[in-house]
Amino acid sequence: EPDPTLRATRQPEDVDRPMRPQALSEFVGQEEARANLRVFIESARRRGEAMDHTLFHGPPGLGKTTLAQIMAKELGVNFRMTSGPVLARAGDLAAILTNLEARDVLFIDEIHRLNPAVEEVLYPAMEDFELDLVIGEGPAARTVRIELQPFTLVGATTRLGLLTTPLRDRFGIPTRLQFYTVDELDLIVSRGARLMGIPAASDGTREIARRARGTPRIAGRLLRRVVDFALVEGDGHLTREIADSALTRLGVDHLGLDGADRRYLTLIAENYAGGPVGVETLSAALSESRDAIEEVIEPFLLQQGLIQRTPRGRMLAQKAWTHLGLPQPKVPGQ
Ligand code: ADP
Repeated sequence: EPDPTLRATRQPEDVDRPMRPQALSEFVGQEEARANLRVFIESARRRGEAMDHTLFHGPPGLGKTTLAQIMAKELGVNFRMTSGPVLARAGDLAAILTNLEARDVLFIDEIHRLNPAVEEVLYPAMEDFELDLVIGEGPAARTVRIELQPFTLVGATTRLGLLTTPLRDRFGIPTRLQFYTVDELDLIVSRGARLMGIPAASDGTREIARRARGTPRIAGRLLRRVVDFALVEGDGHLTREIADSALTRLGVDHLGLDGADRRYLTLIAENYAGGPVGVETLSAALSESRDAIEEVIEPFLLQQGLIQRTPRGRMLAQKAWTHLGLPQPKVPGQ
């Protein structure tokens, strides 16, 4: 009989594993979040209690999963991982919850995508460490209450706005993750190159950091591709020239924008005179899901000041016209 919790739990992506920091002290960036977490972890340890439920929100690849794993390590407890879409039935979640040991960390990725019936089960579990399970159907149905071990739920979401209020309110520690600075990404890339045993020039790692879209996961991916080019077409050294030519061949421009980003900007420029244009229109025209546009493409473009969100839709900022090398049309009446 396979462990019922295995079906609904999973392990973090393999490719990410070698670079994943293992301790809070190895984790680069997110100063404020890190300083606060250090206090909350230490306090929970001293009290010998489960740490309060924690919610990480922010764009993909900024370190939500990594921080959850680090929390479990530093708390000295088990780490269990699942995700909103994987938990199809209340029973899937119940199986995981009843198998937790005292003070364990349960990580639920994409928690905004929980099925409402599963979310209902989560409320009493988070609040009172109790499960109310309905057994049977119709008039014979009855509720049984199961006591759980106290645990820490760590939720991650790219879309805070899609979380229901009752769920959001049950997290004692809501934490927003920010895009990384070039300096921070440079540290991450340099460490990655060291772990891969690749000699790297400082302007080589910097070039990757500058073009990594503020995101450690992208920095790791670009580093692996640049190393491929360095090994096969160079002499095995990561130089600025190799990084630049590899990234250009991969379609990553000097701001770190990729093909999807540029298609988005070009569409608004050429078909909508710079906007405003609604996200549904963009989604249809680009054949990208609305989620991908709002979770992956737009946050970085907004942070870079390339676009603005207005009540009537998205608009290109001056910086985007300059970046695309297109003249900004005159606005009538200005
Ligand atoms: P998320 O869960 O937010 O999508 P992950 O935690 O899976 O992001 O991180 C994605 C990748 O980036 C992993 O390979 C991880 O090792 C790396 N990473 C994330 N944050 C950092 C950091 N602060 N320092 C070093 N590597 C990081």
